Amino acid sequence: MNTWNDLKYKEIIIVDNKNLAKDAYILTFKRIFKFIAGQVVGLGINTLIEPRLYSIASGENDDYVEILYTEKTDGKLTPMLSLLKAGDEILVSSPFGSFTENNDSPILIATGTGIAPFISMLKSGKGRNAILVHGVSSPDYFYYADYLEKQLGDRYIRCCSKSHSNHYFNGRVTQYIQEHQVDPNKKYYLCGVAEMVVDTRDILISKGIPYRNILAEIYF
Ligand SMILES: Cc1cc2nc3c(=O)[nH]c(=O)nc-3n(C[C@H](O)[C@H](O)[C@H](O)COP(=O)(O)OP(=O)(O)OC[C@H]3O[C@@H](n4cnc5c(N)ncnc54)[C@H](O)[C@@H]3O)c2cc1C
Repeated sequence: MNTWNDLKYKEIIIVDNKNLAKDAYILTFKRIFKFIAGQVVGLGINTLIEPRLYSIASGENDDYVEILYTEKTDGKLTPMLSLLKAGDEILVSSPFGSFTENNDSPILIATGTGIAPFISMLKSGKGRNAILVHGVSSPDYFYYADYLEKQLGDRYIRCCSKSHSNHYFNGRVTQYIQEHQVDPNKKYYLCGVAEMVVDTRDILISKGIPYRNILAEIYF
């Protein structure tokens, strides 16, 4: 785990901390650094709690940085983060991380808040003709759905595991990938919790996708 001593950081004023759905928030602050889509920042409310990492969910040239996060009721940082209001200060590190590769026509696969680096990629004008597969437990967690529908149309594939509808695939992303054709010439970008990333990678490899064509960012 990174410590505050490992990172360069500043106090930044929060512009917004909006509740999107149960336990899900978007934190917004002014962009005071350059970053590459796919990078993360360390966040905190003081240096007593070690920084937690969050993918940036806004475009490289946007004036404001957005962080999409969920509150873990038994976590150290997020129950306090969710209480912050516009005008409060947070500690924000300089951006870092290497999940920054991109190319045209990628297949982007995310669960939950793991969609953040892909939102950043798309809002930065990267990953043209991407297909995005997003898995969530409840339709409330289809973050940025309006934007994605507009940007990607049919190439935006929603998977919902705990609620049934004709508007999306009923099941997990792993089931979706298992049941659909994959293209060994494409690059697959995975982002989410370890279990999803490992299971999805195994399925892709078993369907003939070369290991080198699978890139992943794991949230732990
Ligand atoms: C590269 C990267 C990018 C990330 N990006 C995002 C993002 O964009 N959005 C997002 O929401 N999250 C993201 N995360 C996760 C984020 O960094 C935090 O882990 C998360 O927000 C929880 O922080 P917390 O302090 O509230 O919980 P923590 O205090 O870190 O606890 C997290 C969970 O682990 C459990 N736990 C804590 N300690 C132990 C222990 N010793 N043994 C067993 N269980 C324990 C807690 O009960 C809790 O359920 C990312 C993580 C990484 C590594």
